[in-house]
Amino acid sequence: MNQVLQDVYGDLMKCNKCGFCQANCRVYKEVLEEGLSARGRLRLIKAVADGELARTEDYVQKVQACLQCKECAVSCPSGVNPDRIILAARRDLVETRGLGILKRLAVRGLFASRRRLALSFRSLRLLQKLFLSWMPGLAKVRGINLRKFPVAERPLLASLGGPAPGNSTPGGLAPGGPAPGGSTLGASTPGGSTPGRSERVAFFTGCMIDNTLPEIGKAVVEVLERNGRKVILPREQQCCGTPMYISGDLQTARQVARANVELFNRLDVEAIVVACASCGLALKKEYREFFKDEPAFLPQVEAFSARVRDISEYLVEQALVDPAELGRLPARVTYHDPCHLVRGQGVAAQPRSLLKAIPGVDFVEMAEADRCCGAGGMFQAFYPEIAGPITRRKLGNIAATQAEYVVTGCPACLQRIQGGLDLARMPQKGIHIVELLNMAHQAAENAGEKRARAATGSR
Ligand code: SF4
Ligand code: SF4
Repeated sequence: MNQVLQDVYGDLMKCNKCGFCQANCRVYKEVLEEGLSARGRLRLIKAVADGELARTEDYVQKVQACLQCKECAVSCPSGVNPDRIILAARRDLVETRGLGILKRLAVRGLFASRRRLALSFRSLRLLQKLFLSWMPGLAKVRGINLRKFPVAERPLLASLGGPAPGNSTPGGLAPGGPAPGGSTLGASTPGGSTPGRSERVAFFTGCMIDNTLPEIGKAVVEVLERNGRKVILPREQQCCGTPMYISGDLQTARQVARANVELFNRLDVEAIVVACASCGLALKKEYREFFKDEPAFLPQVEAFSARVRDISEYLVEQALVDPAELGRLPARVTYHDPCHLVRGQGVAAQPRSLLKAIPGVDFVEMAEADRCCGAGGMFQAFYPEIAGPITRRKLGNIAATQAEYVVTGCPACLQRIQGGLDLARMPQKGIHIVELLNMAHQAAENAGEKRARAATGSR
């Protein structure tokens, strides 16, 4: 038996085949096939581990077609973690059969290199401008609207990032560019004093915010700086490693993770803030798993992970959001829980309390708010026939709330939900929670300016 399967064999044996996990497995609910439920997959993996089943193409598909939504893990009364066993099976497949060509291209060719990933997004942007906007019929590929897929004009790290303090500047900063350490949106704390450690935070952007939705990253920086934090945005940061890890390519995942741990551990910051649910899960919890066989490096990983906070979590923990400082946003709002935030990190109350703190917001819960939206990283591209109905169910729950905004805490969910809203021609707008908070801060500023103008009689 391959060592990877040996490592999870004890967990596999804990499964008593009760099927509680099946009731909440989104993939099973769509296809109603036992082999694509959590329980069914575990039986197949055990058969492979016992040498009773070969690693056939059908087996590979069963192991790959999992969203990693973690519904099975939270519903198992025996404490089995089917999602993690499935990841071990993927790793076993990479070790015994190799990584498939498409995934190799994606995770080793693109995600492992920030430069190549940025280049590929730039190419997509060019394609959107030159062809897709003129030929909308060609733009929908595997259930994803490529014409409207968000792509940054300029990656966030290229515009706001800087070399980590103490590092030399690879390639140098553009003239007039950010100060070393990153953001220039207001580098000093109120009063102009030099920020102390408790006022300094690092921002880990992740590939999606960097390349597709930099406006989320700008809102993170602005909200933190409005609250007296100095934000360090090191340009040398790498992908979090999730695309490699969930593909079973632990070796490449460890390469980028090691670079991140070493880089951020050099920074004298109170916290490492993230605004992507999957990045947060990797940085906070999964890096320990990446390096569990390397005890000499684990203390560094522990020190790193202990400082990682999701942006909602950080703002609530630090009591940074004061309703008196927020302007009115009269809008009906609902919230979608990203799987890797609600089940991966246990962050669900914090975003809701932030939403309820915004004056004028009419918050309404949607049904099944914590159910997967169908994104699942690359799942949506590989299994559009399963991801499509899952997303449409989410859209139905959104529509029933009659909300104007669908708020969430993950750029990947946002891309999937907004893409679905666009394809279904629904009027709702998807938005990251930190963008909505920033809007409330801007509303307060605008109201303050209006009052000041009224007081001085100027227009
Ligand atoms: S994984 Fe847990 S919930 Fe699912 S069949 Fe096994 S014991 Fe039951
Ligand atoms: S992680 Fe989600 S999709 Fe995968 S087996 Fe568990 S419940 Fe099903």
